[in-house]
Amino acid sequence: MLHISDVKKYKRCPRLYYLSVDHPSVYQPYLRHDEELTKLVVEFLGLKDYYLGERGDDPSRVLEALDKHEWFVKARFAYEDLRIKIPVLHRVADGFDLYFAMYAPLPKAEDVEFYRDNIWVLKKVGIKLQNIYVIHLSGDYVRQEDLDLDKLFVIDRYLYKVKKPSIMLDDLKDQDYDLKTTLDQMRSHNLKDHQPVKRRACKARGLCDFFDQCFIEDLVDDDIEYLVSSSKKNEMKDRGIKHLKDADLDLIEGTRVQYAQIMASKNGGLYYDEIALKKWLEKFKDKTLCFIDFEWETYMIPPYRGLRPYDHVCFEYSLHMLKKDGSLTHREFIQTGDCREDFIRSLIKDIPKDACLVAYNAEGAEILRLKELKDQFPSYAVMLDDMIARFVDMAYPFSEGLVYHTKMRANFSVKSLVKVVSDLDYRDLDISNGMDAVYKWRLLDKNIQDENLDDVRSELSRYCSLDSYSLYLLYRWLCNITRHIF
Ligand code: SF4
Repeated sequence: MLHISDVKKYKRCPRLYYLSVDHPSVYQPYLRHDEELTKLVVEFLGLKDYYLGERGDDPSRVLEALDKHEWFVKARFAYEDLRIKIPVLHRVADGFDLYFAMYAPLPKAEDVEFYRDNIWVLKKVGIKLQNIYVIHLSGDYVRQEDLDLDKLFVIDRYLYKVKKPSIMLDDLKDQDYDLKTTLDQMRSHNLKDHQPVKRRACKARGLCDFFDQCFIEDLVDDDIEYLVSSSKKNEMKDRGIKHLKDADLDLIEGTRVQYAQIMASKNGGLYYDEIALKKWLEKFKDKTLCFIDFEWETYMIPPYRGLRPYDHVCFEYSLHMLKKDGSLTHREFIQTGDCREDFIRSLIKDIPKDACLVAYNAEGAEILRLKELKDQFPSYAVMLDDMIARFVDMAYPFSEGLVYHTKMRANFSVKSLVKVVSDLDYRDLDISNGMDAVYKWRLLDKNIQDENLDDVRSELSRYCSLDSYSLYLLYRWLCNITRHIF
């Protein structure tokens, strides 16, 4: 039996589909949604009497019930061996109105195939469609004390491209579309028919779980493959250029990072711009440094007052404080529930007023979270603004090409960088990345008693503290290579 998600995967990359069949993984939602969407939609539409589909339903069940109900919720249909689950179907004069339901603030035109595939199955089983809608979240909604479904949901008829209506859903039902060839291929092919491609042919790049194990290319640290932002690296590879140091200068864009990469390859591994790096390090002179890392949950449906759909709740921070006398101390915050105000208060308590805050990709992470907290708790605005103004981004020397080591292999994440500059390795931990931390925290937040929650808390603490400690190690490494006194 095939599901619509299998078709989506297959269309994205057939090899990805067959690999995921061979290596099934436990689904862990990246975004938190404790409330079942269809249940909320039923409440929103005010449905009282309706057919309710169930997991494992024989698809004939709903077909036999079509004349007996006006509304159908979570009905399972199937054509050949492709199963679909339709959120809501409404029997109207001469057919049915179809309601898709999405957690997204705007349904995207790029997902049109998902809608088309569902509509194709419905048409194949004889459902005559009239109007097609999608119920989605309103990006403008701000939760007050209670969840207001009338303001949370929007009934729409369009899919959007760059926030503009682009495809009318009703138009999809009249389009000439056939999924049969795809389904036949899915059934008749297997993994052997889809051998690993070269990186350049992969459409998913870093977004596929199998990316690290998919390719057979034998890459060296200074492989031309790692040349960042290069539109011509494949041309160079085709000409037999293997190492960054041999890059054809007429075929590179000439960014600072590319220059740093090529120079690092020429230097036998390391390149740094001594003057620029020393100047950047001057920012830290005679200051207490707070290396800090936040962890947060992202909620599709806002659970607390003041939150919008897809807003975040910071539940953890780790802070390594390097004082002017060279002493290093550690502080942390981990809490569950609506801990936003406690998070702010704890930051204010833990961070000295004159300290410089150091985070990685601070603009896109820690600073953004503080700005959100400032909007939600305006009484702390002055203190939070002051904190924001004191942030320095540790990513800067790496993202701006002030320093590069070929062992970085064009991976500029903290976890990757710290392996280059020290013997720290996150893989030694039970929690090894930010999403693992979020999944573990959910156990604490939901008070899942099957787990040893003390252990979970310790694992979270170890993981987050390694992130802020890594920032300290990166700082020390930068100081060492430029022989800067810290
Ligand atoms: S890494 Fe690319 S080619 Fe390999 S399975 Fe994933 S999407 Fe397909």
